[in-house]
Amino acid sequence: MPQKQKFMSLLDVLKNEKNQRQDDEKGVSTAILEKGGQATQAPIEPVQFDEESIPTMLNDVFAAAINHRASDIHFKPSENQFKIFFRIDGAMMEHQTLQADYHNPLIARIKILSGLRIDEHRLPQDGKTSFESTDGKQVDLRVSVLPTQFGEKVVIRLLEKNPQMVELRDLGMLPNILMKVERHLTATYGMVLAVGPTGSGKSTSLFSMISTFDAQAYNISTLEDPIEYKIPHVTQTQINTEIDFDFSDGLRTLVRQDPDIIMVGEIRDQKTASLAIESALTGHLVFSTLHTNTAVGTIQRLLNMEIDRFLITAAVKLIISQRLVRKICNNCREAYPVPQKYHDLFLKESTLDPKEAFLYKATGCEVCKNTGYKGRIGLFEVLEMSPAIEELIISGASHSDIEDQAVKEGMILLRKDALYKAATGDITIEEAIRAMA
Ligand SMILES: [Zn+2]
Repeated sequence: MPQKQKFMSLLDVLKNEKNQRQDDEKGVSTAILEKGGQATQAPIEPVQFDEESIPTMLNDVFAAAINHRASDIHFKPSENQFKIFFRIDGAMMEHQTLQADYHNPLIARIKILSGLRIDEHRLPQDGKTSFESTDGKQVDLRVSVLPTQFGEKVVIRLLEKNPQMVELRDLGMLPNILMKVERHLTATYGMVLAVGPTGSGKSTSLFSMISTFDAQAYNISTLEDPIEYKIPHVTQTQINTEIDFDFSDGLRTLVRQDPDIIMVGEIRDQKTASLAIESALTGHLVFSTLHTNTAVGTIQRLLNMEIDRFLITAAVKLIISQRLVRKICNNCREAYPVPQKYHDLFLKESTLDPKEAFLYKATGCEVCKNTGYKGRIGLFEVLEMSPAIEELIISGASHSDIEDQAVKEGMILLRKDALYKAATGDITIEEAIRAMA
C-alpha cells in the first residue's frame, strides 16, 4: 500500500502544521468563527485525524454522490469553512460543511488517488481515478484542481462506467416529433445534428438514435471525447487532442473504413464541419453535435464555418435543438392554477389557455429525497429541412424568416415545448422558464 504510506506521512506534516498554527492563533480563529455564526461547530476543537478517517470520509462522499445521482462533486474552500456540494440533475446542492482543517488532508487524499502532485498548490492540475460503491456501481472520476484565494478547489466529474442507454422514445419527445425523427433514421445519407449548450443531453440523444440501428448489419463508427456509452458492435474511437488527434483527423480516417453510419462527437471547427458535410453527401448517415442555442441558429453557425449554403441544404436533414431539465417528482407533485403573472407568457408562447391550464409544484418526499425533483427530461425543437426552407437558406433569409417558415411547417419551438411540459406536470414552471432563457 504505497499510497497509504505517502498519505500518512503527509498527514503527519499537516498535523504538525495545524498544531503549530493553533498554538499561535487559537484566540483569533475562535473569534472569527463566533462572529461568523457557525453554530454547529462552536466551540472549535482541533480536528483529530487518524489514519483511516480521511479515506473513509472521502469514500462516504463518493458513495453519497452516486446515491444522489450527482454529476459533479465540488470541494470548495472559503475563508474559514470547507463546503462540499453535489450537482444533481443540473442544480447545485450543498452536501456538507466542514471545518477548514479538513481541507488540506481531503484534497491531498484526492490528489494521491488521482495521481496528482500533492506538493503543488499553485498550478491547476487534472487527473483521474475510479470508484466502486459497496453495491457495485462503478464510476470514473475526472478530477480538476484549481488554486483559489482560499486554497485549492477541487471539482470531480462522475462518469458512470456503463451508463444506461436511454431509449429514443424515453427522451421526452412529443409523439409527432418522435415520428419525425424516426423517419429520418431510415435515410441512407445526410446529416442529423443535435444542438444545445453543454449538458443539454446532445450525446444521449445521438446514442439513443444510433442504438436503433442493427450494429451488426451496418458499419457504425464513432469519434468521441470522451467515450461515454459503450455499444456492442459499434466501432468507437477516443479523440485525443494532446497527441494532435482531433475530430477532423479521425473523420479523415473513418471515411476510409467503409462506414455506413458515422458519429462525430462534436463539430468545433471548419475542417471537421466540411469533412462531415462531405461524408453526409457521399452516401453516409452522419450524426453530430454543435454548440448552438436554436435549431435555426445552427444554419448560421455552419455558414460562419464557411460551409457553402448549397452544401448545407443538401447535407443537413434534421436539426434537434434541446435542453435537459429536472423532472418534477410525480410522487409528491400538486397542481395549482396558472398564476396571473404567467398569463401573458402562456398567451404569447403556447396555444394553451392560462385560465384553463394548471401548473405543478412538488413539496418533497422520500422518493425524491425531499428535493421535489426526480430524473430529467429533454425539451426539443426539431427543424426538418424542406424545399421551402432550403430556398430561404440559399437566398440568405434571416433567422426569423426561416424560423417562421419552419413553425408554419410544424416545428414546435423549444419555448412552447417547455410550457407544454409545465402544463402536463412533467416539469415546474421555474424549470421551463430557466430553459427558455
Ligand atoms: Zn417527491
